Amino acid sequence: ETDRELLDTGWEDLDAAPAEAPLPVLAVVGRPNVGKSTLVNRILGRREAVVEDTPGVTRDRVTYAAEWSGTDFTLVDTGGWEVDVAGMESKVAEQAEVAIDLADAVVFVVDAQVGATATDERVVELLRRSGKPVILCANKVDGPSGEADAAALWALGLGEPMPVSALHGRGLGDMLDAVLEVLPDESARGELRPEGPRRVALVGRPNVGKSSLLNKLAGAERVVVDSTAGTTRDPVDELVEIKGIPYWFVDTAGIRRRVHQTRGADFYASLRTQAAIEKAEIAVVLIDSSTPLTEQDLRVISQTVDAGRALVIAYNKWDLMDDDRRHFLEREIDKELVQVTWAPRINVSARTGWHTDRLVRALETSLASWDTRIPTGRLNGFLGELVSAHPHPVRGGKQPRILFATQASTRPPRFVIFATGFIEAGYRRFIERRLREEFGFEGSPIRISVRVRE
Ligand code: GDP
Ligand code: GDP
Repeated sequence: ETDRELLDTGWEDLDAAPAEAPLPVLAVVGRPNVGKSTLVNRILGRREAVVEDTPGVTRDRVTYAAEWSGTDFTLVDTGGWEVDVAGMESKVAEQAEVAIDLADAVVFVVDAQVGATATDERVVELLRRSGKPVILCANKVDGPSGEADAAALWALGLGEPMPVSALHGRGLGDMLDAVLEVLPDESARGELRPEGPRRVALVGRPNVGKSSLLNKLAGAERVVVDSTAGTTRDPVDELVEIKGIPYWFVDTAGIRRRVHQTRGADFYASLRTQAAIEKAEIAVVLIDSSTPLTEQDLRVISQTVDAGRALVIAYNKWDLMDDDRRHFLEREIDKELVQVTWAPRINVSARTGWHTDRLVRALETSLASWDTRIPTGRLNGFLGELVSAHPHPVRGGKQPRILFATQASTRPPRFVIFATGFIEAGYRRFIERRLREEFGFEGSPIRISVRVRE
């Protein structure tokens, strides 16, 4: 469709446009050395497989944009997370659990040459419990002679094993066709239901006080047992009432289950965090105010913003605060958190329960911003005044004109600006800043895209 046509459809239609549907998520799981990384690289169509030779190497990236037969999906790669040999079985299971949580469908990779192991059986157990669709990939079937090995995997009870050679690409197309059959049109996790208690992810790097805060909230207040018939919920979520308002705290199992400091724990934590954020409408990013801000803190904040969720930043352990540290902290905030000055910042103490009331207020404020819709008339009134007072700079003798804007969706607010030419990044940021000054949006990321009329 051309932008001309879009213009002709008028504002009303655009106003009713649904939110961008989140892509379905496919996770590749299995024990070490079955060929997960090789498979992921194949699916991504990398010419050379980037298989790590060094055990224990963790990759930065966890998710990748993938495509098959015209269907886009998000691929979760767990191949880079090598587990320790001691206690391997439980570690593999733990890792698989996270990936399964995250996914709408799972490719379970088994080494057909080796056959099913006890560790594989553990993962099968988890897969069954999850109820998620599973495609069984019988890998390392490099030629016809391996087909019998693949057939032996019927015994796992996961349906038809798909014989694949991740190394050579054999059988890959058939397997991906089977994946598309079971992959939902859009991510089931991303389906943000407007009704019911709001969903909160309590996130932050290890030892910031997540489990302490959760205990404080769930203990001092009331853990509500949901007795409503038919409300089946993920048992890893907890319903907690704070100051009379119930919230779902998502993926609390990940908070309550202590993660051991092993190699790969970072990767594990990052997956957990991502899963929790995506399941939630809002993230409370907990930061330890008694120690310097770290890269990891900033990463969790970025994950929240990138996922388009509402955000509250909570500085915990405030009971340890003294003047020296406070002075340092203020400088740190000015320097490191400039990108998210719009997020409410509150100081709390999970130990004493101090300021948990403020936490509730911040949650409510941010969620309200996240839900906000600016009527088209008001938006264009504001924008009209803004661009006539501060027009876009002239570039190469041309000056792009902004025709009008509309809010395409909420949660988070997304705006589409129609213009006669390219709007440069600086000017877009200027518009975002003024939008915030005018309409607030405290605690919510906002998205602005520009459509250029030909
Ligand atoms: P991961 O630990 O599950 O990610 O496994 P990798 O992708 O790192 O693969 C482990 C080893 O198995 C590597 O030496 C791969 O080259 C090999 N491998 C992976 N897929 C195949 C395959 O289809 N056939 C054969 N013969 N070897 C494979
Ligand atoms: P998690 O890894 O994020 O779940 O962190 P924990 O809740 O396990 O807390 C890590 C450590 O910090 C524990 O020793 C807690 O007792 C301590 N801690 C948590 N919150 C506070 C707080 O508000 N004040 C102080 N002084 N210590 C805290």
